[in-house]
Amino acid sequence: MIPFNKPSITEKEIACVTDAMKNSRLSGDGAYTKKVYEQMKERFGIDRMLLTTSGTASLEMAFLLIGLKPGDEVIAPSFTFSSTINAFMLRGARPVFCDVRPDTMNIDEKKIEELITDKTKAICTVDYAGVACEYDVIEDIAKRHNLYLIEDAAQGVGSTYHGKPLGTFGQLGCYSFHETKNYIMGEGGALVVNDPSYMDLAEIIREKGTNRSQLLKGMVDKYTWHEVGGSYLPADILAAVLYAQMTRFDEIMEKRMAVWNTYQEQLADLEQGGYLRRLTVPEGCGINAHMYNIVLPSDEIRTNLSDRLMEKGIYAYICYVPLHSAPMGRKAGYKPEDCPLTEEYGNRIIRLPLHAEMTAEDAATVVDEIGNILKA
Ligand SMILES: *Cc1c(COP(=O)(O)O)cnc(C)c1O
Repeated sequence: MIPFNKPSITEKEIACVTDAMKNSRLSGDGAYTKKVYEQMKERFGIDRMLLTTSGTASLEMAFLLIGLKPGDEVIAPSFTFSSTINAFMLRGARPVFCDVRPDTMNIDEKKIEELITDKTKAICTVDYAGVACEYDVIEDIAKRHNLYLIEDAAQGVGSTYHGKPLGTFGQLGCYSFHETKNYIMGEGGALVVNDPSYMDLAEIIREKGTNRSQLLKGMVDKYTWHEVGGSYLPADILAAVLYAQMTRFDEIMEKRMAVWNTYQEQLADLEQGGYLRRLTVPEGCGINAHMYNIVLPSDEIRTNLSDRLMEKGIYAYICYVPLHSAPMGRKAGYKPEDCPLTEEYGNRIIRLPLHAEMTAEDAATVVDEIGNILKA
């Protein structure tokens, strides 16, 4: 049996959690949270990052921070997780869905500008499968039209665009450390504060609108309510899990890359034969082997493939149902034909099992079974 995802937990994670419970604190901003920040600084040069309770929480914080108002518009892809869109709809903003590039399933940077109106306030990009959007173009558009850029890099921890880590584009970047992502804390995430002017407010919003974090740093002797905020600070016990994972960063990356590379090499023949299409990694994009996707010739072939693989104990799933044509997307006034490529390819794509507890041999087995099913 080859499960879709299996968290990689070792004695190291268990030892760190035990230590956190004995020697750090149960609530947030303890010793392990600080150790995670040191790791992120060392590895990615990230100076300002705040751990949060989820990738979703990071996105919600980002849209609170930029002060969206009801009626504002945010341009975002429809091929994403509901959290990307919920985060700004909760502020009363309206989604303006942009179609994708079929080669990466990322937002099509060439179609963004035509969607800008005088109500547009922000562009929210999603680095699908941990592959970067075309940030040279997108940053330029945001700058010229005076728009905020929020990066949903939930899947992008460890990936790069022309050498620069994902999560560091735009004013604010959002990571997820959910157990289905590459580096995990169970439920958790981080807000990467690229524009330093947001840091003080971000700390306040994360702590129920209070300046409690200034108290913890010894900057004030009592704390109080300053802004409207939420509860987005994760327990230090969870930060201990993430710290252990970060010390295993290279090991986890290498194991995932071995699986990714096997898929990439061994699926080439099936692509040549016209049975499927592999997604592309554009030049300049460094990947973290978060996902491996294939696009099938039709929705029926995809569903059949997924069902038949399941019979063999191989779990491959559809990734996202396009949001613009999901029940909530329709309630928001969208029709399937509004993002034709998202609709077309979103219903033909499948995500293969990929995790650090899998081997290259497992990946080869998956490819063999795919070949048997598609050629039958
Ligand atoms: C996983 C994910 C999220 C949500 O992250 P959580 O930590 O599960 O809240 C948001 N956006 C994208 C693109 C994701 O893949």
